Amino acid sequence: MFLPLAMDDVPDLAAYTGRMNRASDRVRVILLNSALGPLDYRVPEGMQVAPGSIVMAPLGPRKLPGVVWEAASFPAEEVDFKRLRPLREVREIASLSAPLRRLIEWTADYYLAPPAAVLRMVLSSGAAFVDDRPIVEYRLNGVVPDRMTPQREKALAALADQQGTASELAHLADVSIAVIRGLEKAGAMDRVEVPLTVAIDAPDPDFDKVSLNPEQAKVGALLTDAVNKREFRTFLLDGVTGSGKTEVYFEAIAQALRQDRQTLVLLPEIALTEPFLDRFRKRFGTEPIAWHSGLKQSERKRNWRALAEGQAKVVVGARSALFLPYRDLGLIIVDEAHEISFKQEDGVRYHARDVAVMRGLHEKIPIVLASATPAIESRHQVEQGNYELLELPTRFGPATMPEVEALDLTSDVPPRGSWLAPTLVRALQDNLDKGEQSLLFLNRRGFAPLTLCRTCGHRISCPNCTAWMVEHRLTRRLACHHCGHVMPLPEKCPECGDEDSLVACGPGVERICDEVKLLFPEARTAIVTSDTIWSPANASEFVARMEAGAIDIVVGTQLVTKGYHFPNLTLVGVVDADIGLEGGDLRAAERSFQQIAQVAGRAGRAEKPGHVYVQTRMPDAPVIQAIINNDRDGFYAAEMAARRSAAAPPFARLAAIIISSEDNAEAMETARLNGQTAPHADGFAVYGPAPAPLAMLRGRHRHRLLIHAHRSVELQKMVREWLQDLEWPRAVRVGIDVDPYSFV
Ligand code: ADP
Ligand code: ZN
Repeated sequence: MFLPLAMDDVPDLAAYTGRMNRASDRVRVILLNSALGPLDYRVPEGMQVAPGSIVMAPLGPRKLPGVVWEAASFPAEEVDFKRLRPLREVREIASLSAPLRRLIEWTADYYLAPPAAVLRMVLSSGAAFVDDRPIVEYRLNGVVPDRMTPQREKALAALADQQGTASELAHLADVSIAVIRGLEKAGAMDRVEVPLTVAIDAPDPDFDKVSLNPEQAKVGALLTDAVNKREFRTFLLDGVTGSGKTEVYFEAIAQALRQDRQTLVLLPEIALTEPFLDRFRKRFGTEPIAWHSGLKQSERKRNWRALAEGQAKVVVGARSALFLPYRDLGLIIVDEAHEISFKQEDGVRYHARDVAVMRGLHEKIPIVLASATPAIESRHQVEQGNYELLELPTRFGPATMPEVEALDLTSDVPPRGSWLAPTLVRALQDNLDKGEQSLLFLNRRGFAPLTLCRTCGHRISCPNCTAWMVEHRLTRRLACHHCGHVMPLPEKCPECGDEDSLVACGPGVERICDEVKLLFPEARTAIVTSDTIWSPANASEFVARMEAGAIDIVVGTQLVTKGYHFPNLTLVGVVDADIGLEGGDLRAAERSFQQIAQVAGRAGRAEKPGHVYVQTRMPDAPVIQAIINNDRDGFYAAEMAARRSAAAPPFARLAAIIISSEDNAEAMETARLNGQTAPHADGFAVYGPAPAPLAMLRGRHRHRLLIHAHRSVELQKMVREWLQDLEWPRAVRVGIDVDPYSFV
């Protein structure tokens, strides 16, 4: 394992400026391969490189991309100059600025990841290495091939309005790439050359300005001032749902635009991108550039180039957008900053909110963390004096906060086999009669979370994971939500063979929607989960139908809890407020509070007042009480005190070492032996190994060592020194999770 150096070991870099441009010099290069440490190369005569240059370097018989780095950052073995191989080429398209290089070093150091793995996020999927040739895409042209096969038919049906590279089309149609190539040869596809550079309209800061109310204006002025001064400051923009946080940070973006600097807006979910693009266009006259995993290859390359060259002034994206090489970044907004989807759970396990703040520090720019329910960690940073708190405590205009009421499921009992309490059913009926929209929230995809055999008690579980298979009735399948394994719904019990003995246990959103249809056959319903809203296009179609009043009752998962603004949505029902409180997760109470407060925030966002019903078996639980009384400060105070007395984050630090293998005994034994070598120090304790709650995931057995450390301990340094001497069997994989979130 290659472990990077601590930041303290990086000496003053000024010594390097002006020294690197000499021909025939030696340079250190980080290659885009996590298994390799930094290597030295010779700069051939006539080639100009400096730290940050993107280069192609020879390695064995191959050529690998990499980035020239300050040699002092990453010591490497000194190789005799004469033996150094020359760099092949330098890519002029962009180079990595010093602030970005420092961010990469910090990220690698803090999250104990190889620098190359971080670098890969910067140079994402080869976008940096494209030449100027256009990308070739294909689309159907209506010609029916002479020879038809079932695969070809499938592709023709799936690709009606699509255009993309051969591999994208193959993926979309779920056929092999040979099928696409075959269709092209048969004359059924047109070849389209997509240029890499396109003109991008600059957003107009004054296109459709809103006038802020006095409360908003005060906050807006502080933000624009910070943008003007180009200072590193972190603002926690804490405003209730509908208070105008977006309008206010739009003012800050407008200011960055006036200065001709770039803004990055991070959103927690791709599904939120489309509504954001719409809203942005209304305010600024044109859409920003998007960055997320749903982009086509051509869009990716184009957008990468546009932001690296500086034409793209505003970029909105998922967490991966954080590491891109912006030409001149002036502002970062993290919207819905409390969302845990900002935490990446594989590869480099980083938290985009925290890395955003570090990027702000290195770039010397302001950062805005916007949320209606800030994370405990963020509020703690305010108390520590590291972040500045900006509050918007009331909704904009005539809108008021909704009335919240708990429904005690032990006295307001739903009829047998159903899940909605009589009071909630009556309220839904009323709302339907008034022609207003309702939302039922349950954070469970599918029809039922568990399928059980009535005869033998067998529960159908995933062959690859320690998890139940979830029934999806819409697609008539059972699916594992962890590894994606699917199987058809069995007709008889796979264990005892009894027919018609399988029963669905518990509700998912599909089941709640069935109940709604049974109760209100005339109501128009929609299910909103990642199964139904899986693309930006889907999301905007849903928004359009809601806005047009074509939906009466929405049943959704956490996907509907944030971002949306539907003026006619006045009733929210939380189907099961207790779900999140089960399980021993450190942040269970916090997350429940945030989720329910967010979903409640969807109700009554315009003139019509909103009403929220929260179904629970524990109406007296502190979380539920805090929600009903809209007592955010009370909840945070209680939660903070609980964390402090348990010495849990943010009052101490955690890190997890996850050791996995396909062979359970090997994983367990390796974890045990290596756990025994843990260093001993004050304020540093290692617990376990213990099997992860999901002991088996994707066919790998996982055991975890959990490190608990005082804030004064240099956690990374200790872990690095501990792990670098250890031996790992070949088939064992080690993952390190610093500041872990979910223990699944
Ligand atoms: P938040 O981001 O805090 O949820 P938004 O910025 O989405 O709040 O504002 C809620 C609604 O109120 C939006 O429709 C927004 O356009 C409107 N709004 C907020 N502030 C203003 C303002 N100063 N002038 C006009 N409309 C506003
Ligand atoms: Zn699985």
